[in-house]
Amino acid sequence: MIGWIHNAYATCSVALSGLGIPVCSDPGAAISALAPCYLLPRLRRWLYSAFVQHILQHIYGLPLSLILRIKRATNQLATASDKVCLVLILVMLFHALPLFAQDARELQQEKTPSKKLKGEQPLIALMRSCKSALRPDLIGVHPRVYVTEKEIIELRQRAHTSHQELWRQAISHVRAMETTPPPAPAQNRRDQNEVGIAIAEAAFVYQIERDKKYLDAAKRFMDAAVSYDIWGYANNKPNVDLAAGHLLYGLGWGYDLLYNDLSEAERTRYRDKLIKQARLLAEYFKPTPGRTFAYSQNHTFIPMAGLGIAAYALYGETPEAAEWASLARAIFDRVLTTYSQDGYYYEGFEYWIFSTPWLIHYVDAHAHATGEDLYDRPGFREMYQYVAHSMLPSGNYVFDFGDVFEGSLTRAGKGEEYPRTHPGSRFHTNYNLLYRLAQRFQSREAQGVAEWLKSFNQVNAEDFWSLVWFDANLKPVPIAQQEAWHYFPDHDVVYWRSDWTTNATAFAFKCGPSEGHHTLAMLKEFPDWRLSSGHAHPDANSFIIFARGEYLTGDTGYAGVPLTEHHNTLLIGNKGQAKEGNGHDAFAEVSYERLDRIRIAEVKLDKDYVLVRGDAASAYEPELGVRKFVRQFTYRPSEGFTVSDEVEIAKPTVVTSVLHADSGLQKETNNSFSINVPDVKLLIDAVEPKETQSAIEVNTLTAPGPPGSVDKGERQERGQKLLLSTSRPVTSTRFVLRMKVENLSQGRQRQR
Ligand SMILES: [Zn+2]
Repeated sequence: MIGWIHNAYATCSVALSGLGIPVCSDPGAAISALAPCYLLPRLRRWLYSAFVQHILQHIYGLPLSLILRIKRATNQLATASDKVCLVLILVMLFHALPLFAQDARELQQEKTPSKKLKGEQPLIALMRSCKSALRPDLIGVHPRVYVTEKEIIELRQRAHTSHQELWRQAISHVRAMETTPPPAPAQNRRDQNEVGIAIAEAAFVYQIERDKKYLDAAKRFMDAAVSYDIWGYANNKPNVDLAAGHLLYGLGWGYDLLYNDLSEAERTRYRDKLIKQARLLAEYFKPTPGRTFAYSQNHTFIPMAGLGIAAYALYGETPEAAEWASLARAIFDRVLTTYSQDGYYYEGFEYWIFSTPWLIHYVDAHAHATGEDLYDRPGFREMYQYVAHSMLPSGNYVFDFGDVFEGSLTRAGKGEEYPRTHPGSRFHTNYNLLYRLAQRFQSREAQGVAEWLKSFNQVNAEDFWSLVWFDANLKPVPIAQQEAWHYFPDHDVVYWRSDWTTNATAFAFKCGPSEGHHTLAMLKEFPDWRLSSGHAHPDANSFIIFARGEYLTGDTGYAGVPLTEHHNTLLIGNKGQAKEGNGHDAFAEVSYERLDRIRIAEVKLDKDYVLVRGDAASAYEPELGVRKFVRQFTYRPSEGFTVSDEVEIAKPTVVTSVLHADSGLQKETNNSFSINVPDVKLLIDAVEPKETQSAIEVNTLTAPGPPGSVDKGERQERGQKLLLSTSRPVTSTRFVLRMKVENLSQGRQRQR
């Protein structure tokens, strides 16, 4: 908002001064300035000027100061044709240069052919060799994408027997029955995504219940989808992004499920819209020579899932469907190959919730439509571990590494995101995805984790899928019998908890490369893979601690510009890790060889003792000269936590250790501090170095901006931070922090 006012003000003052009207001078001058002979040439000049400024500022993202300088220079040029030439030169020049704004830079990288890629784009070979043809027995048949008529009859039986309770829950809230679709153009954030899901939900519920009210509701939402001229946001990646993925899934599967209940006219209308939108999307994702793709990023695989699903729905009904199916299959080949190798999701748990349904939806549609099962890979087998260990003992939040919600705001039930992340104070996690993984891998552990999350009354976006996904014959391993700690070796993240109760002490420690170690070799193997790791944070050697039902010290949530100072780790001369501060992606243009050296060197995990040693020296830019940053994190239930850092730097630099609290951070004595939340106290002793400068500050950050300008959000306050700095620049230092959890009531007793 502030940004918008600032822009509007800047544009107005530029306009007035361009017209030669002084902003705050005498009214007489302003009136004579309105005479046509005076006004018209100035109006023309201003229009030209505003046009150039708009292009430079909003398409190329140049800073305003630079634009004004360019404009001053161009005003020296006399004729209009000079100016037209100059505009053309600028356009050509800036197309060849790296851009300044984060999203503009990403878009540009998408368009710029990679010099490493020679010859035919590798996806084209995959399109030829991978299987994506519809099973012969499904040709001319509807429904077919996920289920056939026969399978629906079986599901209907389940709904009244083994799955009765799950189904009752699923049909207790059917979006399309409770709301009306947002009218076109439906540009509010995520509005169209919800329409896509509402169609799939109502169409499926109709097929099980056969109650016409669901059919009518589904059609209302399908008509809304048709009425949206643009699928997505008009001002940011129209027709080719997340909303397009959601709507292709919804309308595509809705068309397939309801095919035999629709009139010929309705089928034609929905089919025509699907063809139009699928064509736009496929055109955008076309593998042209040198083209790279961010395969591991949700903005690639969500739209592609939609394209694949719509392609199977339309297969044989438009000649292009086969081409779309093969494009989605080829891109998913890379998506699945480059996916996590240990189950950890680098974009953070919020993105696990949001994007994992699309991996499952694509792989399921593909398996059913073609007969080829793409599930069996380590990241899918191990995914339940990530979900289980990410969950805080309270079951109401997660260890929030990466872009996850609004940190302390969401944890306090405040902020804009809370109603979405915790509808009715229940945590929206999509835990029913684990039913599908449990069923597919016959994993009794995954089934047990899902059962545990259900016991917290967590929420699924698509409860209706539980009817298909839940395997009633798979006996869960209760969570209490599962191991209470886990090490994810590819992403180098450790989780530990004393037990699985809500009263457990629990912590997580992270010291790995942004997208895991497997990425180094795969980037060489697949030069068509471009990283877009903005949702991961520059947080090597950071930790999160939770105890006695409270989140004590940790991360600060989704950031437009992620910085190391938002995490419990070290700043070197006030600078954090990687290219922090440059935009949303702190890892853009950092060599993966360097990132890969960020690692956990040693892990010991047991009931009574934990030791983790992380090496994060290479996380910092070489010019900072960090030769050593080894952090040893130990925990013993009887003694608490000890964090010891060994630091060596090439030149004398002030080193700062950062520790966060949502609230209640206090200085106790010279070297001791505490975090105080109701009934719990974390005592912090700064044992070494002997002399430090300490400060307790409000933690502010740039919140994520709207789609298209994520690094241009407003400034937001999220919690507090303790900064402990060496009292002078040093070339080597050792930090030792001891932390212990106390019950406040116990503490008071001791004082008496
Ligand atoms: Zn973070």
